[in-house]
Amino acid sequence: MKKPEVKKMLSILKKEFPEPKSALNFSNPLELLIATILSAQSTDKIINEVTKELFRKYKKPEDYIKVPITQLEKDIKKTGFFHNKSKSLRGCCEKLINDFNGKVPDNLEDLVTLPGVGRKTANCVLGNYFGKPGIVVDTHVKRLSQRLGLTEQENPDKIEFDLMEIIPKKEWTDFSNRLILLGRKYCIARKPKCEECPLQKICPSAFNVEKK
Ligand code: SF4
Repeated sequence: MKKPEVKKMLSILKKEFPEPKSALNFSNPLELLIATILSAQSTDKIINEVTKELFRKYKKPEDYIKVPITQLEKDIKKTGFFHNKSKSLRGCCEKLINDFNGKVPDNLEDLVTLPGVGRKTANCVLGNYFGKPGIVVDTHVKRLSQRLGLTEQENPDKIEFDLMEIIPKKEWTDFSNRLILLGRKYCIARKPKCEECPLQKICPSAFNVEKK
């Protein structure tokens, strides 16, 4: 996609989704971090159902350490992959206590040292809680960036770097959230609704996804 089309795309997305927000429920950075780790291979609906109870019970990093791991697994079971996720939560909370005074760091370098936290999760926390722009390459952002011709990469980190070149920095978080919303509403993985999509005039894959 060329520069003027990128500008057009950003303005169409802004019009369609004026107030893009993360669909995950949270009230502090620890909750957002935990919810984002849990969200891998799950849906926001399930995560919000699970965290409603979880965040009542687990308020500080210490709370995730002091319960038996089998209890933590039970409490997050519905999110799937609960053995690995409970290990990540424990490891992450342990490191928060040992290295960061129990606080969630507000920079990428430190965030990615936490177990279970990659650039996607780190950028999500930075952008949606700390107001520091970050591009979140989840499954929707990956698929849409490729369909919209913004990247030819497959690797999420490489896609992130491609998008960082094209999208103005102050837009990174909102742009990610808007692509996620577009992916849910129109650009569905199996059957995109190109006929209803507001980007159909500038999207190189419009009405042509299967052939791409
Ligand atoms: S026009 Fe179709 S392929 Fe392009 S972003 Fe919209 S739904 Fe996806």
